[in-house]
Formats: sequence, structure tokens, C-alpha cells
Amino acid sequence: MVVRNAVVTGGASGIGRAIAQRLSADGHRVAVLDLNPPAGDESAFKADVTDRGQVDEALAAVRERLGPVTILVNAAGLDGFKRFTDLSFEAWQRVIDVNLNGVFHCVQAALPDMLEAGWGRIVNISSSSAHSGQPFMTHYVAAKSAVNGLTKALALELGPKGITVNAVPPGFIDTPMLRKAEERGLLGGTVEDHIARTPVRRIGRPEDLAATCSFLASEDAGYITGQIIGVNGGRNT
Ligand code: NAP
Repeated sequence: MVVRNAVVTGGASGIGRAIAQRLSADGHRVAVLDLNPPAGDESAFKADVTDRGQVDEALAAVRERLGPVTILVNAAGLDGFKRFTDLSFEAWQRVIDVNLNGVFHCVQAALPDMLEAGWGRIVNISSSSAHSGQPFMTHYVAAKSAVNGLTKALALELGPKGITVNAVPPGFIDTPMLRKAEERGLLGGTVEDHIARTPVRRIGRPEDLAATCSFLASEDAGYITGQIIGVNGGRNT
């Protein structure tokens, strides 16, 4: 196996953390970019993905520590729940900024290394809500749908350069983001209600996403690009 340098955004929590741990267990050198990285963790770098200056600075620090980055997983995300008629433009903009513009900044910042290497893997964590829609989440669903679109278009541009770009939309995964929504009564039912409606009859685990990303980041996945690969227990088909 070839050891690569990987960056996982949102890698301090939930799905991103599981992906970072899995890529590391796979043998890669992994750096995490997050708003609030754990103190004392030398492989975690503080950056707000909406701020290009911070992203560039963090990527420069990662390059200095590990070398060129050829695997990028964009998992940083921010949800939001508001009736559309009550949604302020500022709230709309922040959710678009984190979920969509953050992907733009991180991909642009990491891409020169992949182009130079003639090899790269980009995985964007979108959302099953881009497939199904979700009431009170217009901003979030719009952003995640755009991430799926960006993924398809970029895959066509970067395929000839040896770089694959795929999106993995999670559905109903047990993370702090989901549990906070549950606590606030925003899930549209209890976790048990959702499990009963999920064909595989369980809640998803961050490790389910991590396994998919591990494969997409591997040599074996070189013929898979521009794909939207749902990890949702059959909730969307
Ligand atoms: P999570 O536990 O809240 O993790 C998200 C991480 O992203 C957190 O560490 C968060 O930091 C970080 N983050 C937020 N805004 C950021 C920013 N501007 N710059 C850098 N880092 C930022 O949520 P999760 O459930 O693991 O979500 C991971 C991804 O999966 C997200 O893109 C989410 O939209 C997507 N997703 C999750 C589910 C699900 O069922 N859980 C379903 C569909 C899609 P703070 O905690 O400090 O804010």
C-alpha cells in the first residue's frame, strides 16, 4: 500500500473524526482541520473552512509537517433548522458558507499538491437530504445539493489528471450533530421511530462512513469518480 498524506475537515467530531481515525488505521498520515481541534493534538489544525486565509495557513502547516496532501475529505458541516419564511439571509449565508464554500476553499487549497503528484482523492460528505429534501432545512439542502453538483463537475475536470472526486451523502448517523437535533426535537420523531423506518433497522455509525471513505481513498477505487455514494441504511435508494 502507498502511504499518503490526508486532510480531513471537521475531523474533531462525529463522522470526520471516524474518517480521520480510519485513514490513519489504514496507514496514511492524517491531519485534521477543525474549528475547535482537541488541545495538544499535533495532527489537528485550527481553521474555519469559510476563511480562505485560515485554510491556506492550515494547509501550509500540514505540508510542512507531513508533505504534500493527496487525499482530502471534506466533512466539516453545519446544519440549521428554520421555516423558510423566517430564515434570515445571514443564517442562509452561513450554512451555504460552511457546507459549500468551505468545500470550494479546501479543494482549491489542496489541489496543487494532487496536480503535482498526478494522483488524488477528494471525498465530499454531502447529505441524504439532498436526495429526499428536508423541511426547515432549505439552506442546508441547497448547500449539500450544490456539493453533489460540484463533485460531478469537478470529477470530469480532474479525471484526466489522476484525481477522483466523489460525494458520500450520509443519512441518519449517530453523531453529536444528530443528537443535538434530537434534543431540540428537530428530528421529526425519536431515534427509535427513525430506526423503525430504516430498512437495515439501525442507526448509522460514523464508522459506516469511514469505511466508505477508506475505500474511495484507496488505489482500488481509481475507476470510481463523479459518483454520489449514499450511506443511509436504505433510507434513500
Ligand atoms: P458534527 O459531529 O457536528 O461534526 C462536524 C464537525 O465540523 C465539528 O467538529 C464542527 O466543529 C466542524 N465544523 C463546523 N463548522 C466548521 C467550520 N466552519 N470550519 C471547520 N470546521 C467546522 O457532525 P457530523 O454529523 O459528524 O457531520 C459530518 C458531516 O456529515 C457534515 O458535513 C454533515 O453535514 C454531514 N451529515 C451528517 C449527517 C448525520 O446524520 N449525522 C447526515 C447528513 C449529513 P464544532 O463542533 O466546533 O462546530
